[in-house]
Amino acid sequence: MNAFLFTPKPFYGSMQIKKGIIERISPSRFPKRIDRLVLPGFISTHIHTIQTHARNTAENLELLDWLKKKIWPFEASLTKKTAYASSFTGMRECLEFGITTILDMATTRHTHSVFEAARDSGIRAFIGKALMDQGPKSLIEKDPLSEVFDLLADWHGFDNKRLQVTLSPRFALSCSEKLLREAGRLSNELKLIQHSHISENLKECEWIEEHFGFSNVELLNEVGSLNDLSVLAHSVHVSKKDIALLKKNGCSISHCPVSNLKLASGIADIKRLSALNLSLGVDGAACNNLLDPFFEMRMAHLLSRSLHGLKGVSAENIFKMATVGGARALHSEKQFGTLQVGKEADYLVVNVPERVYFNPKFPYESLLHSIVASNIESVFVKGRRVFTC
Ligand SMILES: [Zn+2]
Repeated sequence: MNAFLFTPKPFYGSMQIKKGIIERISPSRFPKRIDRLVLPGFISTHIHTIQTHARNTAENLELLDWLKKKIWPFEASLTKKTAYASSFTGMRECLEFGITTILDMATTRHTHSVFEAARDSGIRAFIGKALMDQGPKSLIEKDPLSEVFDLLADWHGFDNKRLQVTLSPRFALSCSEKLLREAGRLSNELKLIQHSHISENLKECEWIEEHFGFSNVELLNEVGSLNDLSVLAHSVHVSKKDIALLKKNGCSISHCPVSNLKLASGIADIKRLSALNLSLGVDGAACNNLLDPFFEMRMAHLLSRSLHGLKGVSAENIFKMATVGGARALHSEKQFGTLQVGKEADYLVVNVPERVYFNPKFPYESLLHSIVASNIESVFVKGRRVFTC
């Protein structure tokens, strides 16, 4: 099958897959009109699939009220069965919209159910139990890390590394310094991805400054929790000093433009953060409220343009954030994230609608601004078909 291939240097051609691996990519003659695209699967480096069934229930609230009034009570009400169902719905939605890999933060209980949902949905997933030893009584635990060892034994590396366990300290407000320090230590020792939220909302940042005399990033740096396995969502309110500390520690950022706008958190200026490895996150259905990477990319591009005009982050770089940047954040760029021979075949086939002229001279702009998730024909993870429209 010939298509316009979004390889690192896009061109028109065909791609052969053998046993889940990209075996060959070869060029073909350009047709008069491009009617089909093949893209690497999108990677969402920040999501809470367990919150999917809370969609459209937590509206018009800022982060801390949103958590306290709606999300934490929702999470506390989940059972094994409903946790599975909510996560499974979110994962199927991701696949339908072209996301083949997720970095998923669960809640403090039922993480096994989230892994079961990932096993059954076919998605590639890095999943962490939310670590909380401060905050609402209905969720916090005395020793949140103890269960992580069971999760590692049961799930880490499942299906030839399709599923992996991460450490997910929820955010500085819900973790003691001891817990943050321990999570950092375990991450270094066991080489596990650390997934957390950082400097999302101004009130959250002010609370941390007041109580610790440090910024959010300085606090995490101080307790030794930051490392090159850290993937930090949001980073809306960060200083120059914060950015330098994130750079020094080799942290990756998950930019979540739609969630940041919807929870009235603000705009993360990704041009300012461009010294760091940047990736993209759709966040949860309770704050987005769609898990759509096409919309996320378009928003990221337009927001950067609104801040910097034509000098904002380019469409090509936004696309890279949503693909190879995510793979880099997950230390998996040798395994997936681009269409290249030898990599695992996580990809999607997209039909270009009749009414759209897809311009190969501007492939990234054409993709971001004239293609939508409903144009997807089929989605593959490790060469297995996981969605067909
Ligand atoms: Zn989040």
